[in-house]
Amino acid sequence: MSTPPRIPESPLEHFRALGTHLGCELFVKRDDLLPFPLPGNKSRKLTAELGLGAARRAEVLITNGAAGSNHCRTLALLAARSGRRCHLVLHDEGAPYGPALRMLAALGACWEIVAPELFAETLHTAEEGYAERGLRTHVIAGGCHTPAGAQAYRRSAEALLAELRPDTVFVASGTGATQGGIAAAAEAVGAAAEAATGERGGVRPQVIGISVARTAERGRAAVSEAARWAGGSGDSIVFDDRFRAGGYGMSDARTEEAVGLGWFHGLPLDATYTGKAFAALLDRCAQRRAEQPDAPAERILFWHTGGLMNYLAEQEQS
Ligand SMILES: *Cc1c(COP(=O)(O)O)cnc(C)c1O
Repeated sequence: MSTPPRIPESPLEHFRALGTHLGCELFVKRDDLLPFPLPGNKSRKLTAELGLGAARRAEVLITNGAAGSNHCRTLALLAARSGRRCHLVLHDEGAPYGPALRMLAALGACWEIVAPELFAETLHTAEEGYAERGLRTHVIAGGCHTPAGAQAYRRSAEALLAELRPDTVFVASGTGATQGGIAAAAEAVGAAAEAATGERGGVRPQVIGISVARTAERGRAAVSEAARWAGGSGDSIVFDDRFRAGGYGMSDARTEEAVGLGWFHGLPLDATYTGKAFAALLDRCAQRRAEQPDAPAERILFWHTGGLMNYLAEQEQS
C-alpha cells in the first residue's frame, strides 16, 4: 500500500496594499495554495489523518458530509491517489449538485445520499458491508474533525506564530479542528514568550474563529475539544457567530462585499467560508479606525483556508 502524500508548507504572504487600505499590517497564510487541484485546510487535515496507522492500512476510506464539501472531495482525491476506495455518505440538501457529484464520480468515489438523521446508521451499514467482504475500512469524522487534523494545524501554526508574532489571527471556523490547532499553538507560543521574557500577558496572539455555520455555543465547544486534542487548554476560545449570515452556505451583503474586496486586491475568497472570516476582519479594522485612529497598526494574520471550488459553485448558482 502506498503511503499518503506529504504536503509541503503553504506560503505566507504580506498583503501590503490591502493592509494599508484597511489600516492594518496584513499577512495571509495561503492554505488555499496547498497542492492543487483541491487545496485548502482539508488537504492539511486529511493528509495528517491518513498518515495514521489505522488509516494507512485501510483499503476503504469512509466519511460523511455535504455533496459539495471540500472534505468529501479532498478525501476522494487522496483515496484515488493512493489506489484506495472512497465511500461517502452525503447529506440530501435538495440542491442541484451536478458538478460536485461529477467530480466525485471522476475520482472513482461511490456515495449514498441520505437524510442527516440516517448518517450514523448508513455509515455503520457501509462499514459492515465492506468488512463482510474482507476489506479493511477507516471511518473519518465529518469535516475531518479529528485529533490528527487539529495537531497538524498546531504544528503548522506554532513556528509561524512564533516568528511572525501577529496580534490577531482570523480564521473561518466550522467543525473546529483548524481553529483548535491554531489556538493551541498560540497558547504554546504565548507561554514560551512569557517564560523567556518574564512578561505576563500581551504576548499571546488572539485567535478569532469566525463561524461559517454554527451558533457560538455549539461551535465553541467543538473548537475547545480540538484545542485540547492539540495539547492546548481549550480555554478562552473566541468563536464569533455574528458573521455566519444565517448558516452554512448562506451569505449576506457583508459577506459579498468582503469577497469582492478580496478579489479586487488579488486575494481570492468565497462566500461559504473565507468571505465570512474576512468580513469580520474588515469590521475589526473599521472599528479600530473609528475608535483609535492614532493607535499603531494592528498586525493581523488572515489564515486562508481555501474555498475556491465553493466560489466557483457560488458563481454557477447566482
Ligand atoms: C472545512 C473548511 C473550513 C472549516 O474548517 P474546520 O476545521 O472544520 O473548522 C474553513 N474553510 C474552508 C475553505 C473549508 O473547506
